[in-house]
Amino acid sequence: MATLSPVLKQATPVVVDYAAGSWVYATDGKKYLDFTTGIGVTSTGHCHPDVVAAAREQVGKIVHAQYTTVMHKPLLALTEKLGDFLPAGLDSVFYATSGSEAVEASVRLARMATGRPNIISFHGGFHGRTVGAASLTTAGTKFRSGFSPLMGGVHVAPFPHTYRYGWDEETAVTFALKELDHLLQTISTPADTAGFIIEPVLGDGGYIPTPVAFLQGLRERADRHGIVFIVDEVQAGVGRTGKFWGHDWAGIRPDVVITAKGLASGFPISAIAASTELMSKAWPGSQGGTYGGNAVAAAAGVATLGVIERENLVWNAHLRGEELRAGLESLHTDFAGIGNIRGHGLMQGVEFTTADNAPDAALALAVQQAAVTEELLLLTCGPYGNVIRIIPALNVTSDEIQSGLTKFTQAL
Ligand code: PLP
Repeated sequence: MATLSPVLKQATPVVVDYAAGSWVYATDGKKYLDFTTGIGVTSTGHCHPDVVAAAREQVGKIVHAQYTTVMHKPLLALTEKLGDFLPAGLDSVFYATSGSEAVEASVRLARMATGRPNIISFHGGFHGRTVGAASLTTAGTKFRSGFSPLMGGVHVAPFPHTYRYGWDEETAVTFALKELDHLLQTISTPADTAGFIIEPVLGDGGYIPTPVAFLQGLRERADRHGIVFIVDEVQAGVGRTGKFWGHDWAGIRPDVVITAKGLASGFPISAIAASTELMSKAWPGSQGGTYGGNAVAAAAGVATLGVIERENLVWNAHLRGEELRAGLESLHTDFAGIGNIRGHGLMQGVEFTTADNAPDAALALAVQQAAVTEELLLLTCGPYGNVIRIIPALNVTSDEIQSGLTKFTQAL
């Protein structure tokens, strides 16, 4: 008899029997409030009836037809629907299965489009675990160490951290942009730089919103140097931050948007979107994978976007996010171990620190485990593992937010 590999490192002892909305019903007979949503995936809550119905119906029609061979209706419908949400001009979409695959597809696209080799990512960024995506990832050593050599042609520039640097935002942004300019002059010149890739809110890197002025500075430099500006919306996109895209906070238009996680409420599908002109610089066969754009996942994606629209879930994420944030802020003063609280919408991070302001991963872990006892599911993140991330479903109710805050307070 096989047993599960020890590298799975399950964060809680919970075994799910079934789940609905914001709640997970476990085999231990307990009902857990889920503020992890499968790491930000079950955007419309667990098993939203519309998503389940769409998937059920699709399973009876066709499960899989690789769309580079024969197209299927759900993917056409998803593409049309996504078009309602994508930034103007990003009118061409390509599908894969996971965030990492889409990240790597965007790297290939930037390189093919520019004929240049290098990609610049930013400290604390998380872009996935496959070797190419891990090469761009600096959200912690566990994502990179032990399987070198990683993909070549990657340079990592400073991210404008305010809390950790102890700087105000303007100082942090000015510093990080100067360092980027220095990098572009000395190490990876524009003639060698194909793309910038950044998350609008650092996800696994600690739930840190990327300052608006930094995203705008990247846009300006990408335009100046003909660099492809890739925004990784895998975790922050699809309403999570209280705007449909995380980069909407900065009012910029990326050249490439990558989306996955929340797109299909738990069915595996990812997409990269770019202008038709840019997308045509990759050639047929250079992108994709066997399961990319799966029909059932695409049908679930159409249903998910429909629910988000009909139930006004981006606005709900904004409102419930404000309630969550206000509740967390009130704990900030009462609990000395909380060093910083930040985020947008329903993507909030609580950073735990020691009395001398060092990262306190042990405390974050203890709080996460105590929350399980309170029947609240939470996740940690951050390069030091000392941040608790709170990612409820986009249709979480006010009562559920209050209940989560009560459980969190008890855990603290
Ligand atoms: N990019 C971001 C911002 C992510 O948060 C993740 C996953 O957490 C990925 C890429 C990789 O996605 P996946 O795990 O589906 O490969």
